[in-house]
Parts: sequence; C-alpha cells; structure tokens
Amino acid sequence: MKIHALTTGTVQVKRSFLFPKQGAQRQLGLFLPGPWADPLPIHCWAIEHDGVLRLVDTGETAVARNVPFARMEVTRERELPGAMAAAGLALDDVSEVVLTHSHGDHVDGLVHVRARVLINEAELRFVSSPTARVMRRVLRQPLPPGFAPEPFALDGGAFGAFQRSRAISDDGRIVAVDTPGHTPGHISVICIDDSGRHVMLAGDTTDSLEQLHSLRADAVAPDPKVHVATMKTILAHFAKYPTIYLPSHDPESAARLAGATTSAETAVAIA
Ligand SMILES: [Zn+2]
Repeated sequence: MKIHALTTGTVQVKRSFLFPKQGAQRQLGLFLPGPWADPLPIHCWAIEHDGVLRLVDTGETAVARNVPFARMEVTRERELPGAMAAAGLALDDVSEVVLTHSHGDHVDGLVHVRARVLINEAELRFVSSPTARVMRRVLRQPLPPGFAPEPFALDGGAFGAFQRSRAISDDGRIVAVDTPGHTPGHISVICIDDSGRHVMLAGDTTDSLEQLHSLRADAVAPDPKVHVATMKTILAHFAKYPTIYLPSHDPESAARLAGATTSAETAVAIA
C-alpha cells in the first residue's frame, strides 16, 4: 500500500475559526473582523492498494469564492490533475473517490473526476437539508456541477474505538469510520499500512493534532458536544492502535506521513 499526500493549494482562515470563543459567540466570530492565521494546506489523498487507485477527497479549484472566514489560494495548475501529476499519478487511473464530507475544499475537485464517488448517507442527507442549502447560497459556495455521489451506510459494525464503520477495500485494509462533528455525516478513512499501522485520513475532524489533543470543537461544527465526543473516540483509538493522524489542513500532515513511511518510530511517537 502506498499513500500520497496531494496538495491543491492553501487556505487562510481567521483565528476565530481555529480558536473559537465558547457559547453564543462561537460562530459569530467567523463573521466579525479579526486577525487571520497563516495559510494552511488543502490536502487530499491518493491510496494505491492491490492494483486499485483511490482518492480520499478531491481538493479545491481556482474558481472557488472566498467566504468571510476563509480565503482560498488555488491556481488552475494546482488543482487535482496537477496535484496528481506532481505525485506521479494519472487521474484516469482513479477508480473510486471517497469523500470525508461535503465542503467545497474537499469536493470541488470532483469536476475533474469520472470515477465512482462515495459519500456517507448521513452526509448526503445533510447536503440536501434546508439549512445546508441556505448556507451554500448565503456563502456563495455551490456544489460542483454534476455532484451526484453514491451514498453508503456505515453498517460494517465497530472498528477499533469507532462504533460504526464500512470496509472500502475488499480486504478490509481501507475502512471508513464515523467521525461526526465538523459536519453531521463526516467520516474518516483509516488505512492499515504494510506495517500494520493505522493511517487515518481525517478530513476536517480537526485542523491539527494540537486541536485534537486540546479537545477543542471548531467554529463550524453544528453541535460542539458531538465534535468533542468524536475527538475522544479518536484518542481512544490511538491508545489501542499506533496511528498516523493526517487532517486535511494540518501543516504537519505531509511531513508526518513522509516520516512514518521512513521510520516506524516516528509513527509510534505520534500516536
Ligand atoms: Zn470542512
């Protein structure tokens, strides 16, 4: 199995996004003037396993509009085709895409993909809800043209500390697990690498490893309690299995993956 970090540009978010106030001010801070944090990468992931090439998320595109709390910095050259070419991969070889959740910086790259696309059924219901429709219109963040992923159920029983899961590969070494919080139907993808370690492609479960250890809900999660409960589940999973934790926007994710590939000890230290 080989996992590639792909980068389709960067996003700059307000500090109030990364370090929200508690209570009623949690989401208000997103829309008020305030300082901006340093740019963060927009990662998606390619997994080569058993002769099959899969993507987890598809990154952002250059046409994406900014929102009051996030500025996208993406050029056409850095969109999915360029990001894959930089990793020595060809888009035509992709046979399946798994989406962690429905935000633009994870799904907009689907305009480049003709393969089968999978999404958690709960996330697809959320995408279709009146609240999500209104937010997309207010923030001018439409779904990419032709957005029609196939829903799947997390009906494969428990996986490690996660109550609900679904095998993505036939041999069960690539598994979707339930990580609600950032969005109601958010999933993460855990790959069991050739050394038996778990590589967790965590989407926006948190923005960083630090946020995970701090058990700090983000500013966009509809219910912070659900978000924090998921973080506790992830930490419980780490306690059972050496895990390399790779959020989509963690500036250290790519180095963490590269380090884990060359040194088993790095991975164990991180977990
Ligand atoms: Zn997101």
